[in-house]
Amino acid sequence: MNFSFEIFPPKTDKGFEKLCSDGGVLDQLNELNPAYISVTYGAGGTGIGRNMAVLKKIAESKRSLPVTHYTCINNSVEGVREEFNTFLENGISHVLALRGDIPRGQPDTGGAFQHSSELVRFLKNEYGSRIHIAVAGLPEGHIESSDFHKDIRFLKMKQDEGAERIITQLCWDMEQFKRWYDTIRHEGITMPVDIGVMPVLDPAVTIRMALSNNGCAIPADLARIISRHWLRPHVFNPEEDQETMELRLRDFRDEGMAYTIRQCREYKKLGPAGIHLYVLNKADVARKILREV
Ligand code: FAD
Repeated sequence: MNFSFEIFPPKTDKGFEKLCSDGGVLDQLNELNPAYISVTYGAGGTGIGRNMAVLKKIAESKRSLPVTHYTCINNSVEGVREEFNTFLENGISHVLALRGDIPRGQPDTGGAFQHSSELVRFLKNEYGSRIHIAVAGLPEGHIESSDFHKDIRFLKMKQDEGAERIITQLCWDMEQFKRWYDTIRHEGITMPVDIGVMPVLDPAVTIRMALSNNGCAIPADLARIISRHWLRPHVFNPEEDQETMELRLRDFRDEGMAYTIRQCREYKKLGPAGIHLYVLNKADVARKILREV
């Protein structure tokens, strides 16, 4: 089983420096020998930002494989072609092909493709074996989907169009994950699966990632960790001082990391191709998880 990491392009020069300078986060992640490092693209409705600049740094390092996320949002055929020609010119030939989240107030993707399967088909027709395509798998079903099995049929469609790998959405509900995993195999989906794991480091981020777009369940044991270290404002003590708050956050992180490590060990038993850590640009988190798992 391999490990891979997902990072996001920093918005500020300082963040970029921290990630990409000599000895920075990227170098530290490379020391852990990931199978690949993927870079998000406009996630959470933000701009594409420095996606390409970060990918180039990964490619130049020659120490890990750069994978770009890519979405259909507001991308025309010409735009997709132009961006992929640039990706390929810069040694980036692996993509996680996504639809993207439809921006609020917009009726559709606003681009040439409405679903990731259409993007996969286009990329395969256009670039053939020059491009390697991964797609998203959603163990709890997509938030817009009314039917778990229909979602899986669309996943199969992506395989038929030429996708080669699945990277999954975070899923803290282990039983649900197993149900999904068994069902996709039963439905003839043979693509290797990299299980997406979001380290539990901050209560607000944990809740937001589960509920803002994804509709993911927060199981009771994780909910209890959040409750035990509930941060701000503390309902019964709104005046709590900064030091106590920091102690609470530290305690939350310790328990959250232990939870994440337990989860990775459970996932490992299922024999997936890999675990894909959303490392949130934190090399120490990745290091600790790899050491323990
Ligand atoms: P699709 O496969 O197009 O599915 C979307 C919905 O349409 C589903 O309900 C599906 O059942 C349905 N559907 C699919 N095909 C068809 C069809 N042919 N006809 C009718 N209905 C269909 N977003 C970003 O903006 N940037 C990122 O960097 C990013 N990174 C991500 C990384 C991972 C690992 C994951 C899991 C998600 C990521 N996302 C990112 C979020 C992703 O863009 C959203 O989850 C998005 O809402 C759905 O993308 P999709 O590729 O699964 O869409």
